[in-house]
Amino acid sequence: MNLESKIRNIQDFPKPGIGFKDITTLLKDGEAFKEAVDRIVENLKDKDIDYVVGPEARGFLLGAPVAYALGVGFVPIRKPGKLPAEVVSFEYDLEYGTDKIEMHKDSIEEGKKVAIIDDLLATGGTVEAATKLIESLGGEIASIQFLIELEFLNGRDKLKVYDVESIIKY
Ligand code: 5GP
Repeated sequence: MNLESKIRNIQDFPKPGIGFKDITTLLKDGEAFKEAVDRIVENLKDKDIDYVVGPEARGFLLGAPVAYALGVGFVPIRKPGKLPAEVVSFEYDLEYGTDKIEMHKDSIEEGKKVAIIDDLLATGGTVEAATKLIESLGGEIASIQFLIELEFLNGRDKLKVYDVESIIKY
C-alpha cells in the first residue's frame, strides 16, 4: 500500500509557512494503520527490545500498538506536570524558546534495550531530548523508528550514533 497517499498535507499549520503532515487520515484507515504498525514491528522484531518509548502525544499512537505486537512494555514521555510519580526532565531548545519533557525515574532499568518511536522526524530536537533522558536512566537506545522523516530538515544529524529508520521520507 502507498502509505504516503494516506497522509494529508495542511498548509500554514500551526503557523504560516509550515506544511503540516497530518497523520489522522492514515490512522482512521484501518488497513493503512495496520500496515504502518506492522512495518515498524518488522524493523524491530530482531533487535531484542525490552521497552518501547513514545513521546506525547502522537508517539503514543504508534508506540503502544508496536509494543503490544512485540510483547514488550510501553513507556511514555510526557510534557511537564503530567506524570504522577518521581520524574527526570530534560529541557531543549526550539526555534523560539525552549521545551521540556519528562519520564518516570523508575521507568527504565540500567542496561535495558529501548526503541524510541515517534510519528515524525523534523529537526530531531524532540527525539534527541528523549535519548538524553533514556540514557540518563541507564537505558540503551537500540533503535529509533519514525513513520515520517522530513529529510530536508536534517534531523538525522542529531541522531548520528543511533540506528534510525523511517517508513515515509519527504
Ligand atoms: P522535531 O523535534 O524533530 O523538530 O519535531 C518532531 C516533533 O514534532 C514530533 O513529536 C512530531 O509529532 C511533531 N511534528 C512536527 N512537525 C510535524 C508535522 O508536520 N506533522 C506531525 N504529525 N507532527 C509534527
